[in-house]
Amino acid sequence: MDIIHLLPDSVANQIAAGEVIQRPASCLKELVENSLDAGATRIQVIVRDAGRTLLQVIDDGIGMSEMDARLAFERHATSKIREAKDLFSLRTMGFRGEALASICAVSQVEMTTRRKEDETGTLLEIHGSDVVRQEPCSCPVGTNIKVSNLFFNVPVRRKFLKTDQTELRNLLNEFYHIVLVYPKVSFTFVHNDEILMELPAGSEKQRIESVFGNPKRNVFTSAFVDINTDTELVSIHGFVVKPENATKKAEQYFFVNGRYMRHPYFLKAVQTAYSGMLPNDYQPSFFIYFDIAPESIDVNIHPTKTEIKFADEQTIFQILMASVRESLGKFTLAPQIDFDTSGCIDIPTPQTRPVSQPKVTVDPSYNPFNERHSFVEQQRPVNHWESLYEGLKTTDSFTDKVQTDSQSDSVLHPEDVSSCPLWQYAGKYILLPTSRGLLLINQRRAHAAILYHQFLEQLNLTQGAMQQLLFPEVLALPPDEMVLVHDLLPDLRTIGFDIEQLSPDSFSIQGLPAQLVNQSAVLVLQDIIHNVRERGADTQREWREQIAATLADEGAIPYGKTLSEDEMRELVTKLVELPQYQRTAKGKTIVSLLSDEEINKRF
Ligand code: ADP
Ligand code: MG
Repeated sequence: MDIIHLLPDSVANQIAAGEVIQRPASCLKELVENSLDAGATRIQVIVRDAGRTLLQVIDDGIGMSEMDARLAFERHATSKIREAKDLFSLRTMGFRGEALASICAVSQVEMTTRRKEDETGTLLEIHGSDVVRQEPCSCPVGTNIKVSNLFFNVPVRRKFLKTDQTELRNLLNEFYHIVLVYPKVSFTFVHNDEILMELPAGSEKQRIESVFGNPKRNVFTSAFVDINTDTELVSIHGFVVKPENATKKAEQYFFVNGRYMRHPYFLKAVQTAYSGMLPNDYQPSFFIYFDIAPESIDVNIHPTKTEIKFADEQTIFQILMASVRESLGKFTLAPQIDFDTSGCIDIPTPQTRPVSQPKVTVDPSYNPFNERHSFVEQQRPVNHWESLYEGLKTTDSFTDKVQTDSQSDSVLHPEDVSSCPLWQYAGKYILLPTSRGLLLINQRRAHAAILYHQFLEQLNLTQGAMQQLLFPEVLALPPDEMVLVHDLLPDLRTIGFDIEQLSPDSFSIQGLPAQLVNQSAVLVLQDIIHNVRERGADTQREWREQIAATLADEGAIPYGKTLSEDEMRELVTKLVELPQYQRTAKGKTIVSLLSDEEINKRF
């Protein structure tokens, strides 16, 4: 008996959908790209429950005939290519003809569409690949597609969706990737009846400004410089941040021929162009657009992938680096940057020290041991710290990874601290002779570890002390980050931020945790947002760890800070009380033992 048979289309489409449509954001991308391919000048996106219940895209593009409307939902039905060679001169976003077929296989779709030349439009309703209604209708020119109850027939997919906040952030990120390359098209994004973005048609600069900047303060235009290079191989233009405006939280966007791409190798080129101009941990923001002959990039990439292969990557690397360098050079002939951040910058170690090193200003009046910054004052019995950690031991997060470094082979004993003399070395290490050898303790990391536990404890148990700001600061954010900060608000308030929403796209900060009084509230919050986002912290537990780690990093005493013997003893005493003192929350070494044996070997 023959056993092979062809799968029904509905099943084949559902399988394909598994690849193309992984989450609401991928569905949004396909729909909006179709609208752009249809020449729309105005596109509205309407979303409900982060796309779970509704994703609607309305455009004023060319629309479809009655016949095409039906065909559009068939697999491999496309108006964009006819033969294989067309693949090499592609200028449209879509070409595979599988998006609509995939979407209708896993949702309930209702579409109305009309061409300019037609009197009446077409209404089509498809539930899980079955056409349930097709009839003439009256509707404006263009296409209006409503995708309801995504994954209604694929419960496993539905279950794997993240929280609404995360899915909404994914939607917005996908949206950014598109709107940043189509500034001439106007866009709106509505979520649960609230307009999150209203983007008028304009220039690239205006578009970036209206997505990320704060138009009232003209942040973008003053913080970025243009880059512009035309070669036979490639044209590159865009905007790169001035070194003095760089932050830890960077917006980094590459586009090629109107498509967003990730490109770690080209990112290296940009970073190299900045080398020596940014402090450790700082990243350049940029929006860089490549124009290149379509045949020299590999277009047949997977629809959900954002990596693109170029034929001549090494040459483009050189061109890009030179282009960025040239623009930066025009504005900063001799980069002399004053980072008035007293303490949040790691001074580069000698071997990696860049040619023109950022000047780090240390606030001489800053004393981590005085009462305003005092972790010393808030001493608690050792067993209290331990009880704080008990609840955390069962799950796997980075705190636990750190804890796997068993403390049993501990090199630091409480009795060492009380009896031995202490020295400071290179403004960076505390030296402690013990019977087992010479202990080296990184002062900044030790302080950060103590603060980390203190902040985590506050987040879990108590209300943190707050310091009122003399001048409230304003934090303006793009919509995806507004959503994120809303998630974090209760914890931010617990830890000591006095923060209120000021407008749909900004918060006002009136106070910040007492341990951080000398810092810029806006920079600290941006750093928190960056870390939560980068590390994909998605549960309250995870983002609390990120908040605590960020604040600890910001609040820790800087290298170069001279400590008295008492201060050092206090620091080490507090350190040894921690349930885990060998490494910081990020896994960096705090304490290292130079054993007797190692020392003796040298002589
Ligand atoms: P692809 O975009 O790869 O061609 P899709 O499944 O996304 O495949 O769309 C199939 C076809 O349906 C497109 O080639 C296009 O002709 C038509 N189509 C889809 N969306 C629209 C739209 N918003 N306006 C006009 N035509 C559309
Ligand atoms: Mg398409």
